[in-house]
Amino acid sequence: MQKTKTYGGRDIPEDLRPLSGELESLRQILLQLAKERTSGQTSGLIAVTRMFNGITIEQWKQVAQKHGLQEWFALSLDESSHLNLSHLLQALEDLAHQSEHDPLTGLENRRAFNRKLQIEAERVDRSNGTVSLACIDIDNFKNVNDTYGHPCGDEVLCGLAEVLSETKRVYDVAARLGGEEFALLLPGASALKAKSMVERVLLRFSEQLFGCEPHAPFSCTFSAGVSCMSGRGTTTPAMLMELADKALYEAKTSGKNCVHVARQQPDFEYDRSTMVHSNEKQFLFSGTE
Ligand code: GH3
Ligand code: MG
Ligand code: MG
Repeated sequence: MQKTKTYGGRDIPEDLRPLSGELESLRQILLQLAKERTSGQTSGLIAVTRMFNGITIEQWKQVAQKHGLQEWFALSLDESSHLNLSHLLQALEDLAHQSEHDPLTGLENRRAFNRKLQIEAERVDRSNGTVSLACIDIDNFKNVNDTYGHPCGDEVLCGLAEVLSETKRVYDVAARLGGEEFALLLPGASALKAKSMVERVLLRFSEQLFGCEPHAPFSCTFSAGVSCMSGRGTTTPAMLMELADKALYEAKTSGKNCVHVARQQPDFEYDRSTMVHSNEKQFLFSGTE
């Protein structure tokens, strides 16, 4: 009988272990080579092919998952070209999904968020529309990790992601920007509307109870800053982000567990020399001939 070893509930045959070892050392060598490239050189991108006899795609998937070798793409040479193509398409779709999503919460990541913010800002500029942005940061999250442990902290992150996904409209974008920081992009929403929506998220999140044995259930809050862009030439994605960040900072310093709306940048300064003075107004509108 074939000897097996259990990895996270899956059995990997002993005779497949040298395969992952070989790929891992090859990956280390290639990573080292990539690091040694000087910055002036053009970037290199190649596909490396290695044939392995006697293993199936299913067995490969187990090895890849266990050893973090998902970037190695495997093709079965036993199968028809149609099966290979659909396998290739699936792998490309998985890669595209991974590159724009956060693995823990399943929300979009910072890269996807920045791309969509850029697109939305261009749409607002083109169509004279409106978009709001909310930056969200969980309060005292370090304490959660310190008191209840990191895995419990992860549950809180997933809990907030769930509330965001359930509360947002289909065309809104909810993202995890990193750590305990999240963002919402709300096309068509005024600052006021965005504020009330984020307050609804805050209420639902703060009512959620997290149970991490052996501790008693606990709840969390967050602070958020909202900024809004309305009309042509009003602001840029970077400015929108900066304004929301400043408002978030104000929410934190004013005691946390609240949503602040950014004071927008002042309208452009009028050139007062070109304005009509009161004596000129009198002359223009007095009706004297
Ligand atoms: P504040 O109310 O001012 O935002 O304080 P805070 O404690 O939330 O903020 P701080 O920046 O001090 O701590 C953030 C913590 O988030 C520190 C870091 O260990 C933790 N963290 C970052 N990423 C993850 C993650 O993926 N999982 C878990 N469990 N913790 C994380
Ligand atoms: Mg933070
Ligand atoms: Mg925080």
